[in-house]
Amino acid sequence: MGESQFDVIIVGAGPAGLSAALILGRARRRVLICDSARPRNASTRHLHGFLTRDGIAPAEFLRLAREQLTAYETVTPRETEVIDGRQVASGFEISLRTGEQLTSRKLLLATGVVDDVPTVTGLAALYGRSVFHCPYCDGWEMRDQPLAIYGNGETGSGLALELTLWSRDLVLCTDGPAQLSASQLQRLDRHKIPVNEKRIERLAGTDGVLERIVFANGESLARRGMFFSSGQRQGSNLPEKLGCEFTEQGCVWTGEYEKTSVPGLYVAGDASRLVQFVIVAAAEGAQAAVAINKELLEEDLS
Ligand SMILES: Cc1cc2nc3c(=O)[nH]c(=O)nc-3n(C[C@H](O)[C@H](O)[C@H](O)COP(=O)(O)OP(=O)(O)OC[C@H]3O[C@@H](n4cnc5c(N)ncnc54)[C@H](O)[C@@H]3O)c2cc1C
Repeated sequence: MGESQFDVIIVGAGPAGLSAALILGRARRRVLICDSARPRNASTRHLHGFLTRDGIAPAEFLRLAREQLTAYETVTPRETEVIDGRQVASGFEISLRTGEQLTSRKLLLATGVVDDVPTVTGLAALYGRSVFHCPYCDGWEMRDQPLAIYGNGETGSGLALELTLWSRDLVLCTDGPAQLSASQLQRLDRHKIPVNEKRIERLAGTDGVLERIVFANGESLARRGMFFSSGQRQGSNLPEKLGCEFTEQGCVWTGEYEKTSVPGLYVAGDASRLVQFVIVAAAEGAQAAVAINKELLEEDLS
């Protein structure tokens, strides 16, 4: 069995990967952490719901985490994409965008997810400022405002009902024929949420603040904010390439302590979870780090 260059390679330096690097670095493990600099929440200005850091800019949160890692010479950060990975006799071998190949005994993927943001004209300029996808992250700032929900079917109506906690002035915009069952329509009606099926032409706003939804028939609806429900996909194809199993919702399946079905391979953060918060991702990273360290200890001190 050849000698690995690192004890652990972490792919992804978001909250999950950085948290794992901190625990493993402090445990004197030789850690490489690679990042392609595409954090999921880049479009938002404030990170909410993280104890002691409520409202911090996401970039500042990452800057602080990276700065604190510099105290540990055990951790080597690299700003580069990992384009491939495979199992080898000594553990794992990864290929970097730079052309280098590196090896480690264990591999942690903290590669996150990518959101399918609706392609409505004008939405991109408002995303993260008055158009959001997660009420837990941004609902408080939009409380009691006139809001639209962009969505359809069960997820659209579910999001609309959920948002009644934050505002009672809600309109579900389906951007075309509603795909809602009679019982879903009745439930929305009971909670005074009208359904608007008109095709949306664009969102109009100033300085990131939504002002109105303009429909294809020329009509418009004044709204101060919008929440949308749409899909998401894995941030990297590495879990698939390495043979991970997936849940029906498209998350990487992990068992106890973020272990995947592939020996020695761990996945933490959004890539493996439906509750997708920074604090949860960081906790999972820490959990994976301890499990990885224990696995290494078992091998070394058998
Ligand atoms: C608009 C928006 C607002 C949000 N607001 C909040 C909020 O207020 N509060 C909250 O708790 N959560 C919020 N979230 C959710 C939060 O962003 C995620 O839960 C969190 O970022 C997950 O952390 P992670 O480490 O799993 O993934 P990420 O933060 O997505 O980090 C993954 C990292 O992996 C890197 N990567 C991927 N593939 C590779 C590869 N092949 N090689 C190298 N690097 C790779 C990416 O570049 C990225 O830096 C928000 C999300 C969005 C989209």
